Amino acid sequence: MVKCMVPDCRNYSNPIRKKVFHRLPVSNPVLCKRWLIAISNPAVDPDSPLDPRQARSMFVCSDHFLPTDYILLPRRPLLKSTAVPSVFPHRLHALPGPVPEVRRPARLRYQPLRQAAAARSFYTAPVC
Ligand SMILES: [Zn+2]
Repeated sequence: MVKCMVPDCRNYSNPIRKKVFHRLPVSNPVLCKRWLIAISNPAVDPDSPLDPRQARSMFVCSDHFLPTDYILLPRRPLLKSTAVPSVFPHRLHALPGPVPEVRRPARLRYQPLRQAAAARSFYTAPVC
């Protein structure tokens, strides 16, 4: 099974979903380094040489490339030799500016069962 090496991407080879997986361009060290920097996988240092056996098992799925990164051919799209992954929908730190902290309102946080039941009976008690 082939799995995408982009952090937080859960795509893997699946005949139903039909994702295309691209190997790291290890034959082009400059381009390979650009891919690794773009991918930002903490398990791989872009400045260190890759173990060829390790590199053979590293794939990036088609979700991380723009349509303009492909050449349309009759059988299947071909990734351009200069393409670099640039689409990372799961990457929060790529958002401009700080990510706002999302906190649930106090009334929705965990309450001990007895307090929750008491609060519920207060709201459902008949009004006389
Ligand atoms: Zn992916």
